[in-house]
Amino acid sequence: MAKDYYKILGVSKDATAEEIQRRYRELVMKNHPDLHKNDPDSSKKMTEINEAYEILSSPEKRAQYDRFGTVGPEGRAGYGAGGFDFNDFFGGDSFNFEDLLRNFGFGGFTETRQRTAPNVRQRGEDMQYPIAITLKESILGTKKEIRLTRNETCTVCNGSGLKPGTGYITCSTCKGTGTVKRIQRSIFGEFIVQTTCPTCHGLGKIAKEKCSSCGGTGVTHIQKTVEVTIPAGVETGMRVRIRGEGNAGLHKGPRGDLYILIRVEKDPRFEKVEDKFYYTAHIAFPEAALGTIIQVPLIEGGYEKLKVPAGTQSNTELIIRGKGARLVGNRRRGDLIVKIQVDVPTRLTPKEKTLIKKLSEIYNGKKNS
Ligand SMILES: [Zn+2]
Ligand SMILES: [Zn+2]
Repeated sequence: MAKDYYKILGVSKDATAEEIQRRYRELVMKNHPDLHKNDPDSSKKMTEINEAYEILSSPEKRAQYDRFGTVGPEGRAGYGAGGFDFNDFFGGDSFNFEDLLRNFGFGGFTETRQRTAPNVRQRGEDMQYPIAITLKESILGTKKEIRLTRNETCTVCNGSGLKPGTGYITCSTCKGTGTVKRIQRSIFGEFIVQTTCPTCHGLGKIAKEKCSSCGGTGVTHIQKTVEVTIPAGVETGMRVRIRGEGNAGLHKGPRGDLYILIRVEKDPRFEKVEDKFYYTAHIAFPEAALGTIIQVPLIEGGYEKLKVPAGTQSNTELIIRGKGARLVGNRRRGDLIVKIQVDVPTRLTPKEKTLIKKLSEIYNGKKNS
């Protein structure tokens, strides 16, 4: 069957967008590759989780998925419409639907599934790397050095997989053709199915002697430090794609991409609600009545002076232009909204008490006159 994205994320079919996002964040944190260094399935799992989130977090894609059980044309939710699985239908464990189509003349189908294309050069796998950044970094953008273990082109054989000084010999499994034929039985009768040679992966030749450093794959698995640029305006749940920084491809294939999964830490001084950016300033009652100048902290550091006019009420919003948040891809920053909170004193010194009492008497005098 096509993948059940709801099951992968562990949410119900009627989950709200917020539930899906919350659940996704939990899963990202739980499946951080750093926590599962010895588990080769963890990055595969993360890929699945991301795929599910990509579909279910988009109202359009989700609707399409709910209706058809797949998302196309670039979706990866299986072959057929309606979630129908041809592999189940034909009952073959190694049945290759693609090969069947090719035999019927639907050759173009293979373009959507490069993994089985008869080409020994394989694109490197994409990688996921979750990081946490501060609110300041999310608004101003930042550069981060991250350390990850990924496939790198083998330096001994330069990616060829051959033992230095040796060459190729013809593959004995396919006699150099790169493909093997096999009879496939199905309810439609027997078909001759042509598949990529499992020994040489379609190349028609194999290494006479494999490179001992990489075992013939052309890549080695090593730790690397990568500097990544996080653009200004990113938010929790976003993925930043760093092209060509994923795993090196097998046999000189192109590199995969690196996806940085963003989590923005909270800053207790500020509150960000979508593109709105708030700071709450507490002032005393006399300052509100008489007017004052306050120092407002800025996310980039430092302070900006702000005039609070006389007679300002609690919950008044004052604006500092261009010092707020920024949406990704937007060069200009929004405004910083300063919410004024007028505090009523709870503990008074005897002197304050006397003065406030006097003030109160004046008020009552005004009321009664
Ligand atoms: Zn090598
Ligand atoms: Zn072969």
